[in-house]
Amino acid sequence: MVSSASAERTFVLVKPDAVRRRLVSEILGRFERKGLGIDAMALRRMDERLADLHYAEHVAEPFYPALREFMTSGPLVALVLSGSGVVEMVRGLVGATDGRRAVPGTIRGDLACSSRENLVHAADSAETARREIALWFPELT
Ligand code: ADP
Ligand code: MG
Repeated sequence: MVSSASAERTFVLVKPDAVRRRLVSEILGRFERKGLGIDAMALRRMDERLADLHYAEHVAEPFYPALREFMTSGPLVALVLSGSGVVEMVRGLVGATDGRRAVPGTIRGDLACSSRENLVHAADSAETARREIALWFPELT
């Protein structure tokens, strides 16, 4: 039997807008009902230093200062989810970046209408997931 420690993992943030809007259980429930495992979960805050590391690929983008302001604006829920094919599956459940364009049935498509305050972050590849898990939950790596 394969233990959960060796199953594929992804990294997810339930962003501060979701916590403010009381959508944490709605969002976690979608992952749970899909059948994904929760390997780690914590209510955390992102400070500016962690934002710059987590979003290293975006620090030079024009939208980054406002993104950092938003992501450091309140508590968020950091999650490690596991399951076969979990990285791609979770990206599909989350939907397109801009909530106005995200397909209905996805988290963003059903619950968000902003390109910034879009409720969830999900790692976009297995490599990104490993990097983000090491950043947020070093004890797991
Ligand atoms: P995703 O979260 O879908 O992987 P990106 O990695 O492209 O999207 O961007 C990271 C985050 O930056 C987005 O989730 C969103 O919060 C914010 N963002 C991306 N593009 C824009 C934009 N054009 N305007 C405002 N915020 C943006
Ligand atoms: Mg991304």
